[in-house]
Amino acid sequence: MYFDYTATTPIDNEVLDLYVTIQKKYYANTTSLHLLGQKANNIYEQMKKEIRNVLGINHELIFTSNATEANNLAILGVLENKVGKIITTEIEHPSVFNVYKELENRGYEVVYLKVNSEGIIDLNQLEEEMNNNVLLVSVMWVNNIIGSIQPIKDIIRIVSKYPKAKLHIDAVQGITKIKPDFKFEDIDLFTMSAHKFYGPKGIGVLAYKKNIDLKKRLFGSNSQNGIKPGTFDLALVACCAKALKKYNNNLDKHFDYVKRLNDYLIKEIKNDKIVFNSNENCSPYILNLSIPGINGETLVHTLEANDIYVSTGSSCSSKLAKPEKTIYAISKDESRARSVIRISLSYLTTIDEVKELVRVLNNL
Ligand code: PMP
Repeated sequence: MYFDYTATTPIDNEVLDLYVTIQKKYYANTTSLHLLGQKANNIYEQMKKEIRNVLGINHELIFTSNATEANNLAILGVLENKVGKIITTEIEHPSVFNVYKELENRGYEVVYLKVNSEGIIDLNQLEEEMNNNVLLVSVMWVNNIIGSIQPIKDIIRIVSKYPKAKLHIDAVQGITKIKPDFKFEDIDLFTMSAHKFYGPKGIGVLAYKKNIDLKKRLFGSNSQNGIKPGTFDLALVACCAKALKKYNNNLDKHFDYVKRLNDYLIKEIKNDKIVFNSNENCSPYILNLSIPGINGETLVHTLEANDIYVSTGSSCSSKLAKPEKTIYAISKDESRARSVIRISLSYLTTIDEVKELVRVLNNL
């Protein structure tokens, strides 16, 4: 029983079929001048158009290996050769947080916005920190640990008052899952990752507005505006576009189904030892809980013994016995932050699986 869809999703069958077709038929390099190369290039352009259509954007699109690379290229590309203040939150994914830590070491003035007990930033703090010296603001849309959803529309309104400041949104856990209350077109740079929405692993996207002078971090050919030079896998690009379109079309239907599963879990988990870290305003795809006193890793293995696969938190940090950053930020409670498990749901999750999970959790 897989309850770790936030870490990654299985590939959709239609998407996998497309992968094989493109690999077999359109293997030429998109930069080759001959007919097969041009056919591949036409598919590439068509796929970019589809992604732009689905999201309603005119942005440049850079295909990377994953969202980690996309976040790095976004942040470092905006800041190259610039000096100033940069703002992020204390609960970002490591692919943003650790870049800001590195930039702090290099001398940037960095602000880590605090979050409240629901994992939401304080817009007043953001407004107070903004000034004409701010170069970049990075905020995740949906938190990958508890599923808190940031007020992106308000953040856009605040940051856009400062023309020098660019807004970067890590949209990895929101895209195809949560209906945005904002327009992607209004965001300077944002990132996503196909393996989070039933696409293949190995492909992330950095979308950035055409007027942004994104500096190169890698050097090679002019492929992908020179931002991510080198030959890319057209089949991965096509799969990313297909999965995005398919799962974005099913967003409402899947949301309603998963919300019902989540409501059921919250209602039926009746174990006094369990503390919920996610609340009803969070993404229904994520239900985070703690059993203070029991290590998160121990909990994962206890559930595993019942064929239930959950995560201790971000897959990237799950092997470390450190308090979970987001849970500590919302609770200031070390014991709670060390005893975390993250249950994540999907349209593929069945009610029987959920019932079995409840049974096991209630007997812990
Ligand atoms: N941002 C968030 C919010 C994520 O959940 C993840 C995946 N854990 C990433 C970025 C990094 O994505 P990838 O695995 O594609 O590098």
